[in-house]
Amino acid sequence: MSRIVYVNSDYLPEEEAKISIFDRGFLMADGVYEVTSVLGGKLIDFDGHVARLNRSLGELDMAIPLSRDELLAIHRELVAKNDLVDGMIYLQITRGAPGDRDFVFPDPETCTPTVVMFTQSKPGLADSPAARAGISVISIPDLRWQRRDIKTVQLLYPSMGKMLAKAAGADDAWLVEDGLVTEGTSNNAYIVRANRIITRELSNHILHGITRAAVLRFAAEAQMEVEERAFTIAEAQAADEAFITSASAFVMPVVRIDGTALGDGTPGPVARRLREIYLEESRKAAI
Ligand code: PMP
Repeated sequence: MSRIVYVNSDYLPEEEAKISIFDRGFLMADGVYEVTSVLGGKLIDFDGHVARLNRSLGELDMAIPLSRDELLAIHRELVAKNDLVDGMIYLQITRGAPGDRDFVFPDPETCTPTVVMFTQSKPGLADSPAARAGISVISIPDLRWQRRDIKTVQLLYPSMGKMLAKAAGADDAWLVEDGLVTEGTSNNAYIVRANRIITRELSNHILHGITRAAVLRFAAEAQMEVEERAFTIAEAQAADEAFITSASAFVMPVVRIDGTALGDGTPGPVARRLREIYLEESRKAAI
């Protein structure tokens, strides 16, 4: 059975969904996106994702085409139409398809945004073998643009980073700029030293992860110490633990960095505890 997807107000089988070849998302990566996890048919951190979506749109002078409540209704409709239990909902909004290709932004009065949403089913998403074993990362230079705080669909370099990791026999890559880790290709990066959680501070250099915000809140509530600062790969390799966070990986332990095992090479207690807390609290708050 084919998936039912959402395209500009219509719910359609995926084979019938169409976008113009003039769409600026296709021609210029002129669009933003969000990925919201679904566990047990409910949306995780939905309001955080809407808030960041609206911020991304604002930073790019794009109008907000749908309200929070309209977006929620569409997300829920897609969950229902696709019988989605565990997985993700991908949402993309582009500046639209003005006709001729032109670097200049089209007039927002005449060019309406393109809105696309679809589901990806991942049965057992929260019960991943990778979370039990931990993942390995390599370091690569961060060659992305300087507005990483905007969640745009320019994902070529992160995609190249994942391919470099794969070629090196690793699971993912951490990006390094001026000697310091910025974040993972599609996640925020953390280390743990003497029970203190260390992660880079928010700025234009990283995406402001919705999972990051929730995890740091839960860590503070559990009286764990958090330090928001950048760290080097050498410091990470000497750390007790490391982990990443993202909407689809939740809290994922990292056990190897550039070939060096952390501790005994298995997921550490802080990462495991944070994963547990995050999943438990997020399921409770899911809508
Ligand atoms: N950084 C980057 C570069 C990402 O692509 C993502 C995931 N979209 C994240 C961090 C994590 O953000 P979130 O927790 O909101 O998924």
